[in-house]
Amino acid sequence: MSRFAGKVAIITGSSNGIGRAAAVLFAREGAKVTITGRNSERLEETRQQILAAGVPEGNVNSVVADVTTDAGQDHILKTTLDKFGNIDILVNNAGAAIPDSEGNTGTAQSIENYDATLNLNLRSVIALTKKAVPHLTETKGEIVNISSIASGNRATPEFPHYSIAKAALDQYTRNTAIDLIQHGIRVNSISPGLVATGFGSAMGMPEEVSKKFYSTMATMKECVPAGVMGQPQDIAEAIAFLADRKASSYIIGHQLVVDGGSSLVMGLHCQDFSKLLQ
Ligand code: NDP
Repeated sequence: MSRFAGKVAIITGSSNGIGRAAAVLFAREGAKVTITGRNSERLEETRQQILAAGVPEGNVNSVVADVTTDAGQDHILKTTLDKFGNIDILVNNAGAAIPDSEGNTGTAQSIENYDATLNLNLRSVIALTKKAVPHLTETKGEIVNISSIASGNRATPEFPHYSIAKAALDQYTRNTAIDLIQHGIRVNSISPGLVATGFGSAMGMPEEVSKKFYSTMATMKECVPAGVMGQPQDIAEAIAFLADRKASSYIIGHQLVVDGGSSLVMGLHCQDFSKLLQ
């Protein structure tokens, strides 16, 4: 039997990138999925990919919504419950390193940028989770939050607000994991490294620059020891593992790093010491 047969999953930010790959994977493995994002054309592309995988149309609930708004969150939940009757899995994936409207980076980034970045990457997760908890309590469901290796014990000086939001999200994951396990709800998170998605474009990079950025990074062992750029599918598989109670039932409040080794290397360790010592 398919791994998610009979399960209902909401995957935010599924009009592109990691969320899209996760939605296709979950649907292909039997889940009824709510896919959602603001861009209706890209959302339809996700729906078409799911249908092309042989999934019945009735297993897909496609919702155009802004996840940072109360109305958007309510719409996502209501349409899911109306169409599928319950919620088993919530994947809080929507997120972005929102560019500053003045083009500033670092400490020059505006307080409006701070508000917008925290609103999307942290507040919307907290709000949607709070609203979903009564339903996830009924099903003893699963939550998977999508964080980032940018949240770790390293500086990310160019986009401080994004990494602050993800660091706070990690703490939220740990706190809710312990609070909600008493209701049978498991909460875990994934910290992706560099993954080739629309993330660069959402940061304001032109498409070509974004592609060049990803391909260059993959050639630098001090950036990506694995030597290849992460693909949305790599993260989708990790999400599926943490959302699959049979596979990961005893894993609670975990932050699963999926980054090709990026977060393990420091610049000084990436030098070829055998050459330096000659
Ligand atoms: P994409 O830009 O490809 O996808 C982001 C998704 O979030 C889109 O579907 C977008 O939909 C949605 N989204 C953004 N803002 C909103 C909003 N206000 N309301 C509803 N949906 C919204 O990026 P990724 O797939 O890479 O990003 C997915 C997650 O992975 C994010 O949380 C990101 O922080 C994280 N991540 C990504 C990394 C990478 O290298 N790619 C590295 C580490 C973490 P739409 O535009 O249609 O609204």
